[in-house]
Amino acid sequence: MRPDRLNPLFAETAGLKGVGPQMAKPLDKLGLLRVKDLAYHLPDRFVQRRVVANLDEATVGENIVIALTPNDYRSSAGRGPFRVLAADAAGNVVSLTFFGRNGGWAKKQLPLGETRWIAGRLDQYGQMLQIVHPDHVSEETAGLGQICEPIYPLSEGLTQGRLGALVQQGLAALTDLPEWIEPNLLEREKWPAWRDALLAAHEDENKPARERLAYDELLANSLALMLVKNANRAQRGTPLQGDGRLRAKLSLPFGLTGAQKRSIAEVEGDLAQAAPMLRLLQGDVGSGKTVVALESMLIAVEAGAQAALLAPTEILARQHHATLSKMLSGTGVEIALLTGRDKGKARESILMGLMDGSIDIVVGTHAIFQDAVSYKHLAMVVIDEQHRFGVGQRLMLTQKGKRTPHCLAMTATPIPRTLTLAQYGEMEVSKLDEMPPGRQAIDTRVVAIERMGDVVEAVSRHLAGGGQAYWVCPMVRESETDDLAAAEARYAELRDHFGEQDVVLVHGQLRPEVKDAAMERFARGEAKLLVATTVIEVGVDVPNSNLMVIEQAERFGLAQLHQLRGRVGRGTEKSTCLLLRGGGLSETARERLSLMRETQDGFRLAEEDLRLRGGGELLGTKQSGDTPFRVATLEQIQRLLPVAHDDARLLIERDGGLTGERGEAARVLLYLFERDWGVQLLRGG
Ligand code: ADP
Ligand code: MG
Repeated sequence: MRPDRLNPLFAETAGLKGVGPQMAKPLDKLGLLRVKDLAYHLPDRFVQRRVVANLDEATVGENIVIALTPNDYRSSAGRGPFRVLAADAAGNVVSLTFFGRNGGWAKKQLPLGETRWIAGRLDQYGQMLQIVHPDHVSEETAGLGQICEPIYPLSEGLTQGRLGALVQQGLAALTDLPEWIEPNLLEREKWPAWRDALLAAHEDENKPARERLAYDELLANSLALMLVKNANRAQRGTPLQGDGRLRAKLSLPFGLTGAQKRSIAEVEGDLAQAAPMLRLLQGDVGSGKTVVALESMLIAVEAGAQAALLAPTEILARQHHATLSKMLSGTGVEIALLTGRDKGKARESILMGLMDGSIDIVVGTHAIFQDAVSYKHLAMVVIDEQHRFGVGQRLMLTQKGKRTPHCLAMTATPIPRTLTLAQYGEMEVSKLDEMPPGRQAIDTRVVAIERMGDVVEAVSRHLAGGGQAYWVCPMVRESETDDLAAAEARYAELRDHFGEQDVVLVHGQLRPEVKDAAMERFARGEAKLLVATTVIEVGVDVPNSNLMVIEQAERFGLAQLHQLRGRVGRGTEKSTCLLLRGGGLSETARERLSLMRETQDGFRLAEEDLRLRGGGELLGTKQSGDTPFRVATLEQIQRLLPVAHDDARLLIERDGGLTGERGEAARVLLYLFERDWGVQLLRGG
């Protein structure tokens, strides 16, 4: 149960004053669902304005405060802006420009012939000076020049004014909370108390406040992960010892790499213990994780138990099932597929098989852990693409039966060492750092978008030669309607060019059946070109597809690009990846794309990516979604995470049940950052 004192902070933002239904979506987009989210919606930056006597004193791009007298209104046809032409003391004219239907409001605020104080950013539009949507319009100077104003990340449908007012409501709900930071550390760093830190972080660029808030988040994360690990250690699993008889019968068309052998041995060692395994298998796309998973599961089956493989999507579950079935033919091992879409008799018979133990291995989506599914003896779970779930959710999933199954989590996201700690805590890691032999380097090229014609030509030649290709469009968030529209438009163009039958489209908003049908046509080779939006949907193995085009490549993270590209490096054929880039790239963006050309080592790319995005970037982690944090920046993570990690360990060593004074405070912290699965484990274990 969440401590009562936190209830006001967890009230829904929908219930706040001035939040109508039309604001639900923009708030949701920013993740501002609870009052505490508002308090934690920290400004990107602050503006400080300069008071100027007239426009000659100001420069374009500057934030100013100035007295202006409106002398004309200009409305424009259609969706054009409403303009208020106004003059300064020296007679210079500036346009106060309002988009949307703001004419009425502007007229009321800015009556003709009456002088007003205006605060805003001076811009130039053609020959004309303008201030778009002034931040303030006031009859007095009202200290406008003194205000240091926070600028918040926005989403469509919100203004700085509206959001700022909501944030203030969020801040007003803050009460003091008990201190969870170790007293010596707090004193050494001269960090403010929690509430003061949040208030200060909205006032100005207050470094100690920001540091403290970041540290809180890192500490919460470290604590939760450590609780998971402790709880796991305290649980009982089944020691599994295989005799190798099934593994010997596997018909593999290749010998294992050294890294695969080592990883399997590490898993084998863990499985032999009574404490449930909690191991991460990290290996680049194409490094051969599937075989490691299979051999691991076979150890369980040899020991007389059942194993399950959990995939993040239906498509991937099907693909895994097909691959594994093929490898298992001739072993006598029973394998089944169970997804949310299986209904009726087929489903019943699988459920029976799992209950009576006649099915040894089940592959599926979340459906395999639903309440209706019971196992005779599930002792080993493999989770593919761990980062889609999160450790907490995963642990909940695996709490089936009296004994905790051993768990192997597999991820293809090569993340830097520091972030591994942040994502997985002290989980044991096996690394597939050696690629199967015979892989060819992927010929990667960066191409300007202006050369679209040439690119389509190249795809055309490739398809004519009997090949298939992927065409990836960016989709930063599932809800981004612009991106979706762009992908649909590109699909329509390519379909017109290559013909209805040859092109399929797959994106997150399609119904699963439609998506699967399209995927299957592509996998069978009936469709030649797959236009897709997200990484996961092209997580499918189609060896004949060895050309990939990635549009607006600069918008993807390096790790993501790397993962996408890995889809075409699979066979022994030569593969090509064309990274289409827009104009006006920053130096960093250029460097990132050229790194993609230079190396195919996922771990190196991850480290370089971190270095390139490194210091000072406030928004980096939030937007890329590659860390579990919303406050801490990459730079702060690297610097403060080790401290938080050690502190968490000390606290848990002294007070593992979190019952002491600081322990209680730490519980509050865990709830605050929604890492309360850590607390639940305390009670359960
Ligand atoms: P991952 O899941 O790590 O991306 P997969 O397990 O799908 O990679 O393996 C990629 C491809 O490499 C598959 O076609 C697989 O059969 C093949 N493969 C795996 N291990 C080896 C090996 N030791 N030698 C040759 N090919 C291998
Ligand atoms: Mg895989």
